Amino acid sequence: MAQSDDTCKRSTCSKPRQGGTGQYSAFCSTECGLKHEHVKADARDARRDAERGSRDRHNPRRF
Ligand SMILES: [Zn+2]
Repeated sequence: MAQSDDTCKRSTCSKPRQGGTGQYSAFCSTECGLKHEHVKADARDARRDAERGSRDRHNPRRF
């Protein structure tokens, strides 16, 4: 029986989706959705840093 449609989108969470709003409606709660997005952002930033190398870290004009 497929149950993924009724459970939180976060891979590490198996609670039924219920409290999320807006873009987080696929999660059990907005907070859980935010954590999920945060993990994805961290992975993306790490990959980007690896591609760039460490040079930009020492450039204050980056911002
Ligand atoms: Zn969840």
